[in-house]
Amino acid sequence: MNVKTEIGPIRPPSESHSLLLRFSRNCPWNKCLFCPVYKKEKFSLRPFNELKKEILFLSSLNKKIKNLLHSQSISELSLNLSKYFKYEEISDARRLLHWLYHGEYTVFIQDADPLFRKKEEIIELISLLKSEFPEIKRITSYARARTIKRFSISDLEQLRQSGLNRIHMGLESGSKEVLNFVCKGLEPSDIIEACEKLSVAHIETSLYVMPGLGGKEFSKLHVSETIKVINQSKPNFLRIRTLGLNPSMPLYQLYKEGKFLAPSEKEIVLEVKDIIEGITVAVKFYSDHNLNLLMEINGSLPEDRVKMLNKIEKFLNLDKEKMDLFILARRLNKVFDLSEFLAFEKDEYLQEVYEKIKFIPDEEKESLFLELRSQNL
Ligand code: SF4
Repeated sequence: MNVKTEIGPIRPPSESHSLLLRFSRNCPWNKCLFCPVYKKEKFSLRPFNELKKEILFLSSLNKKIKNLLHSQSISELSLNLSKYFKYEEISDARRLLHWLYHGEYTVFIQDADPLFRKKEEIIELISLLKSEFPEIKRITSYARARTIKRFSISDLEQLRQSGLNRIHMGLESGSKEVLNFVCKGLEPSDIIEACEKLSVAHIETSLYVMPGLGGKEFSKLHVSETIKVINQSKPNFLRIRTLGLNPSMPLYQLYKEGKFLAPSEKEIVLEVKDIIEGITVAVKFYSDHNLNLLMEINGSLPEDRVKMLNKIEKFLNLDKEKMDLFILARRLNKVFDLSEFLAFEKDEYLQEVYEKIKFIPDEEKESLFLELRSQNL
């Protein structure tokens, strides 16, 4: 069977070990000013029969791999794929081997809004996936809140019974003003309603918030309204993904024209601190995107709140020079977190770069940090 499989451009960091299945291409909305991902690409649903063929094809490769693993290890097989698989099968065999190696047996459905299709089709595809890959432990998907709202609770329960466990949704901000400004195409109430429905249907929710998105102007509102929406939505997981800016985003143009003032690195950390302090519901909080400055701010709220805030205080207590040096080290990807930085022997290259920027005005320094962190987009 010759099948051309497809993989979309992005997945959440937490799905790095998942098998990726692209139910639809690109984003049906595609207007968010801060989003570079699908710009200039058209949304389309991948044909139902094509997806069924893709699942059966991947399943046949998976079965063959599992048979081969009776007589050799994963690393031996990874070196010998060309001996057993046709040229056009090798990349899929490799990602299945990667999937088996990690043994988490999770699947992530792409692209931005893959549930934007008939419920019956989604159920049939997920059911086929589960029967062909009995080892699957979790199936998750991105979705827009308005797409989730179209489903009744009974529809969502059927989706959960077929095997859909978790939905990742971009909240970005709980502020109506910020959402309108960045053309998110959502009201805060859409997210709240979608989360409520998913919760009743026992489907987990993972919300994404974007510190910095309100700019300097709406920073306070961005934070206070985001806290309100989180507390009303009660997501299972909350992930922060700091604003980055590059020329492929419409917001970048506004930034260049001085119509959007990006908060400084420290101001963004203060936003995160306020969000953590303001959350009153139980949620697992993750800082798992390299755009974030403090990658170590992870934990379950409310029990880990003090520990998380102490880590933020440690950063805020740095003197100006050390803070700038740490930000530079993070943005050059020299260190992963503050503890690593503090244990770091004096790095010559870092010192050399720092000497060059030490006396430039703070505003220019912040533009440089923003530029550097945006390379992680
Ligand atoms: S809805 Fe998501 S994928 Fe679509 S443009 Fe907005 S942020 Fe990007």
